[in-house]
Amino acid sequence: MSCVLVTGGAGYIGSHTVKVLLKRGYEAVVLDNLSTGHRQAVLVDEAHFYQGDIADDELVTSIVEKHGVDSVIHFAAKSLVGESMKHPEMYLWDNTAKSVRFFTTLKECGVRNIIFSSTAAVYGLPEQIPIPEYLEKKPVNPYGESKLMVEKALQWMEQAHGIKWVALRYFNAAGAELTGVIGEDHNPETHLIPLVLQTALGKREAIQVFGTDYDTPDGTCIRDYIHVLDLTDAHILALEALKKGMSSGALNVGTGNGYSVREVIEMAKEVTEREIPVVETERRPGDPAVLVADSTLAQQLLGWKPQFTLREMIASAWKWHSTHPEGYRR
Ligand code: UDP
Repeated sequence: MSCVLVTGGAGYIGSHTVKVLLKRGYEAVVLDNLSTGHRQAVLVDEAHFYQGDIADDELVTSIVEKHGVDSVIHFAAKSLVGESMKHPEMYLWDNTAKSVRFFTTLKECGVRNIIFSSTAAVYGLPEQIPIPEYLEKKPVNPYGESKLMVEKALQWMEQAHGIKWVALRYFNAAGAELTGVIGEDHNPETHLIPLVLQTALGKREAIQVFGTDYDTPDGTCIRDYIHVLDLTDAHILALEALKKGMSSGALNVGTGNGYSVREVIEMAKEVTEREIPVVETERRPGDPAVLVADSTLAQQLLGWKPQFTLREMIASAWKWHSTHPEGYRR
């Protein structure tokens, strides 16, 4: 089996992917600067964990050579939309410039297969739902722009150097691995499902509903939530398909089902059997009313099919949050 270098392997989606890679018999080596990730989330031994920067040529080269890395899953990035609006330069540097540097090192080391963690934020405020990949890409924040620029860098580097790549455009990742050993732990937390569950735990007084006057059936925003294990599966299938000769390109990964903020909160009440007080507030700037994926292409090309329902996402996330109320800090 080949060795896969996972950057950002100590983060939420990265750590789940590493666990599944190992379970499926891959050798995985993690490179993470631990700026937002957690060492405890990485279920590999010290020999396979490197704390460092993706733009550190010497480090990346030595990892590739030592472990015989032949493919990369690149998660390492900043991912807070609000922060990106305040500090665009930080996102263009960390997400875009460093990725380009990283790909250059990989090219020089002869690593050809790259799976890149992209986002639905590349579409901005889409005019069509569900969203197909070919829709115009008009990001409305530096986070989405920083990821779109990396997709474009990959396209050009493919033409010039023969790199093979798949960019997976995630919709709303949710849930946790089913044994409750690893899960989502962001600081600060900004995502709906963890915040709702922290409210159920009594760690927050109420969940704020950002806007109730959207043009949707109940007035709140609709999102396409996808289980982190379905995402993980898509990464590994994409890697395998690429190695078997699939063409490079970008694929949406969502379930195609949209749920409103109110529906998520109602489902969380049922799953947790707890009170979840709600406060209705203003819209959050930059939130599109509806984001739902058309992931037909990923399903056709990868033979991938999302398995988990919203209830299962919330139940698995609840297992993690209720057993780790302080996340990895305990
Ligand atoms: N949301 C909310 N209250 C919160 C956090 C999020 O109402 O405390 C809403 C948010 O406006 C969006 C949806 O929940 O419509 C999902 O937000 P999240 O930040 O989880 O993901 P995003 O869609 O922004 O990537």
